[in-house]
Amino acid sequence: MVSRIVKVEPFDLVVFGGTGDLAHRKLFPALYRRFLDGQFSAPTRIIGVSRQPLEREAYQATIADALGQFGAAAPGDGLQAFLEMIDYVPLDVGSDEGWSLLETKLAGDPTRVRAFYLATAPDRFGVVAKQLARHGLVTPASRIIVEKPVGRDGASAERINDAIGAVFAESQIFRIDHYLGKETVQNMMALRFANALFEPLWNSAHIDHVEITVAESIGVEGRAAYYENAGALRDMVQNHLLQLLCLVAMEPPSSLDADAVRDEKLKVLKSLAPIDASNIGALTVRGQYGAGASEGGAVASYAKDVGNDKSTTETFVALKVSVANWRWAGAPFYLRTGKRLPQRVSEVVVAFRAIPHSMFSADAGRISKTRLVIRLQPDEGIKLWLMLKEPGAGGMRLRYVPLDMNFAEAFQIYAPDAYERLLMDVIRGNATLFMRRDEVEAAWRWIDPIREAWSLSNDPPRPYFAGTWGPAASIALVERDGRSWTEEVV
Ligand code: NAP
Repeated sequence: MVSRIVKVEPFDLVVFGGTGDLAHRKLFPALYRRFLDGQFSAPTRIIGVSRQPLEREAYQATIADALGQFGAAAPGDGLQAFLEMIDYVPLDVGSDEGWSLLETKLAGDPTRVRAFYLATAPDRFGVVAKQLARHGLVTPASRIIVEKPVGRDGASAERINDAIGAVFAESQIFRIDHYLGKETVQNMMALRFANALFEPLWNSAHIDHVEITVAESIGVEGRAAYYENAGALRDMVQNHLLQLLCLVAMEPPSSLDADAVRDEKLKVLKSLAPIDASNIGALTVRGQYGAGASEGGAVASYAKDVGNDKSTTETFVALKVSVANWRWAGAPFYLRTGKRLPQRVSEVVVAFRAIPHSMFSADAGRISKTRLVIRLQPDEGIKLWLMLKEPGAGGMRLRYVPLDMNFAEAFQIYAPDAYERLLMDVIRGNATLFMRRDEVEAAWRWIDPIREAWSLSNDPPRPYFAGTWGPAASIALVERDGRSWTEEVV
């Protein structure tokens, strides 16, 4: 099957932080693939910005290297034509020098889409917005893209949003959570709202609980300084896990229009039952990995990885979350995320209620709950686990088997990286898969009391061995309710 390519209008994209990890690993490979697929129209211009004093050709060479390193495509497949579109401006965003060169390079038709991608630390977001305005670079067709995390708590997120909002209208601001660009995440909306099967059952009368797992097998890699300051709650839960929760829990929006979808997600965030000092012990588990075995070898502890024996930064979080509304009362959402877990996997498990009565004899076997497993990575796809009769003449024996739909196999098509979809959405001006200001701030308002309660308690994060599923308390969090994490079916 061939995916349909709808060309976008010619555009200018300025990547602040154009020499950084995100730009090299994600943004340029994504742009290159869209270019190779023929989605760009000439003349499109891409301009990298950072403090490094590079000439244009030298910068193009770094991009060619990055494309090779991060497997975008074999050299030769239009590489030269792609590099021709790329330019570079050295400047320090905190200084007034260098902006006139950027202005010169952007000169031309002021009605063209002009996108500013802020692939820099969040504390630079406000400065860049201010400088863009000060140097007259913001046109009516401009938009700004900011990376998650927006801030490190509610107050800093508000400051950043104020600073960007002083220059750009909300409709021009695209806050990226790349999870929303994943095919399976978008498929969650298709599954729920393009089929008659699930929506009538999508409530606590029929659903027992929901699990959301975002597990990484890696440690902090090259991001120790950032991670030590952030921790798993800020880095993963505030954005990726809460966004997934919103998509599972939200009411059907009236359309796919950006505000219709975001209004419904916001209502979910506002319905989350508070977790604070009064219930922190019962509803949360935080952990930190110790030495162990991971990715086929022995690995050091987190404390060693970041060079801080006294670190209390959490590398694992498990939460029991209640969405306090009619649809979900009584069906908890169990969330967990962590580093140095046994495998890299992100998935949502919707566990339906047990059948009220079994007509089968004990010989038929145990009847497991129907489960819908929505896998975001790796192997994007959907499995519906059902009880079926084992084939044969040996009587009624029941087996728990999946209806298994692996997207790559089913569609015979390569699933685009999330950044490919999201970058093209920015150029098209489609904000459905981006976070609105009030969503980001509502998420922080729910997260901040958890962090505050943790820091008030004198309990350090619970240790867990690298290569395991986190502290034993995470298993107890779910088993206390007579349930268990769905490891066995994946
Ligand atoms: P990074 O590797 O440290 O890159 C930062 C970039 O910003 C570099 O190009 C740096 O170049 C530039 N920069 C820093 N200060 C500057 C200044 N004053 N003026 C101009 N340029 C400046 O960081 P990253 O990992 O790419 O992350 C970028 C953003 O994306 C962060 O907000 C991060 O949280 C977010 N993010 C990253 C990832 C990822 O996979 N890396 C994933 C999700 C979100 P010079 O030092 O040469 O100026």
